[in-house]
This record gives sequence, C-alpha cells and structure tokens, in this order.
Amino acid sequence: MTGARVHRRQLLKSAAAAGAAAVCFAPALAQGTGPRVVIIGGGFGGTGCARALRQADPRIAVTLVEANATYTAPPQSNAVIAGLMELNHQQFGYNRVKAAGIEVAISAATAVDPEKRTVTLANGSTLSYDRLVVSPGIDFRAGTIPGYDRTAAETMPSAFNNGAEITTLRRQLEAMDDGGTVVITSPANPARCPPAPYERASLIAHYLKTRKPRSKVIVLDQKESFTMQKLFEAAWQELYPGLIEWVGLSNGGALSAVELATKTIATDFDKYKAAVASIIPPQKAGHAADLAGVADRTGWCPVDPLTFESRLQKNIHVIGDAAIAGAMPRSASAAQSQSRICAAAIVALFAGRKAEAPTLTSSCYSLIAPDYAISQRGTYRPADDQYVEAPPGVVISPADAPRTARKDEAQQADNWFRTITSETFG
Ligand SMILES: Cc1cc2nc3c(=O)[nH]c(=O)nc-3n(C[C@H](O)[C@H](O)[C@H](O)COP(=O)(O)OP(=O)(O)OC[C@H]3O[C@@H](n4cnc5c(N)ncnc54)[C@H](O)[C@@H]3O)c2cc1C
Repeated sequence: MTGARVHRRQLLKSAAAAGAAAVCFAPALAQGTGPRVVIIGGGFGGTGCARALRQADPRIAVTLVEANATYTAPPQSNAVIAGLMELNHQQFGYNRVKAAGIEVAISAATAVDPEKRTVTLANGSTLSYDRLVVSPGIDFRAGTIPGYDRTAAETMPSAFNNGAEITTLRRQLEAMDDGGTVVITSPANPARCPPAPYERASLIAHYLKTRKPRSKVIVLDQKESFTMQKLFEAAWQELYPGLIEWVGLSNGGALSAVELATKTIATDFDKYKAAVASIIPPQKAGHAADLAGVADRTGWCPVDPLTFESRLQKNIHVIGDAAIAGAMPRSASAAQSQSRICAAAIVALFAGRKAEAPTLTSSCYSLIAPDYAISQRGTYRPADDQYVEAPPGVVISPADAPRTARKDEAQQADNWFRTITSETFG
C-alpha cells in the first residue's frame, strides 16, 4: 500500500466519521489531492461522470481512461451512413475535457485488480483508485452467428460502436448498383438504442428513394415487434411505400448464419442475397466489465440503483449501456443521466453520507427523413431495487401528429445532439 493510499483512506474515514452534509475533505488540500476516481470509457457515461465529479468537488482527482483519442458519437450516425451529414459531425476529442481539470489517459484499460484497487493500461502504466467507474459501452457476443467472423464483421458492419464502420457502410451504399438489396439484421433485446436499426432502415430508404429507387431495404428481426413500431410503419408507408420490408421473428426474421463470400444472410426460413448488409449482433457489456469482474452470467452488470455501485465488486460503479438499469433504455441520454447520479453518489459516499433516491430521464429521437423525426421520452425511479417507470411514464410522439410536428421533432433531435455533445465533450 502506498503512502498516498494510506493518506486518502484516512481522509475518507475522517470524512465519513464527520457525516456532515458538505464534502468533508481537509480545507488545506489542493485541487485533485482528495480521493482518486478512475473512470474507464470516455463516452457519454464516462466523460459525463468525470465532468460531474469535477464540478461537484475539484479536490477529487479524476482520471478518464479512453482507448481512442477521438470519440465517434453513435446518435445521428445513421444520417452519416445515408449521406445526410459528414462523419466529423459525430467526432469529438478530449482537449476540452482536459481543460476542465480532468486527467485523460488515451490508452485501453487491460486489467483491473479490485483487491489492490488498480487499473493497468495498454501503455504499461498502472493507476490506483479509491473508486472506479466502468462505462465501456457494448461489445458483441462472440460465436453466436455461424460465419460471422472478424472479416465478416468488417464487410457487413454493425456500425454500432466503431466510427470507421460508419464510413464503410456509407461507401458501400454509394458503390451499390441501383436495384440492390440492403439487409439489416436487428438483434433481440437487451441491446443498445432499440430504435436504431429502424432509424437506419428509414434513412437508407431515404437515400435509395432519392438516388437508387429500384433498390430496397429488408430488416430481419430477432423480435416479434419493435419500439415505436406503429409510428415507424406509418412513416414508411407514407414516405417509402414498397421500399422497406420488415420480417419479424415468427415470419422468419431470426438470423441463423452468414456467408461472407456471397453476402448471403440465412434465417430459419429463407436466404437473402445482400448487395449491402449491416449485421447488428447480440450484445453484452463492453469487455472492460469482464476485466473488472462486474458482469454477471447475463453479460450485463447488476448495480445498486441508488449509487450504480456494482453488486459484484465493492468500490466499482457501472453506468451507461453496460449497466442493468431495469426499465431504462440503453441510450446516450440515459448514460448522461446515470453519470450525474453516479457522481453525486460517489461524492456522498466519500463524505460518509447516503446517496439520495434519484429520478432519471431518457429521451431518444429517431430520424425517419431529414425533416421527419419521432421520439420516446421516459422518466424512471428506483423501486424494488431496480429502475421502473415513474410518472409521466414513457411518452411517445402521437400517432396522428401533423407533419409540422414531425419537422419540429427533427429540429429538437438536432438541438438535443448539440446540447448533449457540448455538455459532455465541451
Ligand atoms: C445508430 C445509433 C443511434 C443512436 N441514437 C441515439 C439517440 O438518438 N439518442 C440516444 O440517447 N442514444 C442513442 N444511441 C445510443 C448511445 O450511443 C449509447 O447508449 C451511448 O453511447 C452509451 O454510452 P456509454 O458511455 O455507455 O458507451 P459509449 O458511448 O459507447 O462509450 C464507451 C467508451 O468506452 C471506451 N472503452 C471501451 N472499453 C475500453 C477500455 N478497455 N479501455 C478504455 N476505453 C474503453 C470506448 O472506446 C468508448 O469510447 C444510438 C446508438 C446507435 C448505435
């Protein structure tokens, strides 16, 4: 145990003993000389939590560990695939995060030792922590789709957690002959951003309608129904008649294998020859959750809903897509909401106080055409050890809204994206 660690432990103990409402670090301490928090994952959850911790108490030393120097935000990336925006609209660096007093280590976390409270990075350094926050997003479940190996994943990309794949899909669409079939496979839940595959189908249909009108989109679904289905299907009927075919589970939507050489996608009932394919495989918490020992047999991470502390490892918190948060969807706005609650809970725990029962929100916009969006907003609170819907519940765009309302929602989607990315990345 290092001298610094002993010092911090004593500090934490005395803070807890004091039990005061304010954070009880000794006033003589300089910035960043209080307890250490390491955060793995510089996406919406992790970066949001780093900022919230610094704002709550600058004496907490916060180190954000992120594998890539540039973050590519998934919301609105379907618009990039469809040629409506450029990739740089999605990309953010960490200079402004550093300017906020957060130490940023650009290197992948490769090991976590919950006993010694250390994180090892690919660059060889080791960071010690008093509390660790894990927000690694998602990974795909390996070996679940016959034929879907690394090369197949690069050729028929999900573009769900990899910026380069967004460009690959766009280039493939641009190179496709008119008359080709675009196949999108949609996984069973739980999954990142449940409406995203249908937003992708919509915006690709928009591209095809305007550039390659003899082509079509087929969505092969591992589910019997999907979120906001009536709204999506009504919009498809209105905007893209005959261009999008959705195949649900009982009609043979379940993906059973892929054949890379011929871009053939097999389901239990049929085979589809794709000109362009986007396979979105079944998901789990990002690998860093396995490193930290916070993922259970479901592949996701059980947490205390008040603090987001892991049920499996003390002093480690899990937020964002990796966490099991009951009724909350896996969205950027949920990750941001959780990041703030987690930061407040960590500050309270350092001060020996109990975390307060939070109310969390999530809002998710889906663009169906450049001037046509629908949304789903939810409010959640902890009950029976899990997040459940709280009044006013989940509010979805009305089915009979006029086109002006859809246009307003498209503008709101843009505003939401600008706000959340500037709040997170500066
Ligand atoms: C097509 C699409 C559209 C979407 N649209 C919306 C939307 O409209 N609204 C909305 O709210 N949400 C949307 N989402 C969902 C949203 O992107 C995710 O829910 C959100 O990014 C989750 O945040 P996170 O912090 O959990 O993970 P991420 O944002 O994925 O961040 C995880 C970070 O951890 C890093 N990392 C992973 N492992 C390590 C490691 N070992 N060491 C260091 N760093 C590591 C990764 O590089 C990454 O930067 C969409 C998603 C997709 C795919």
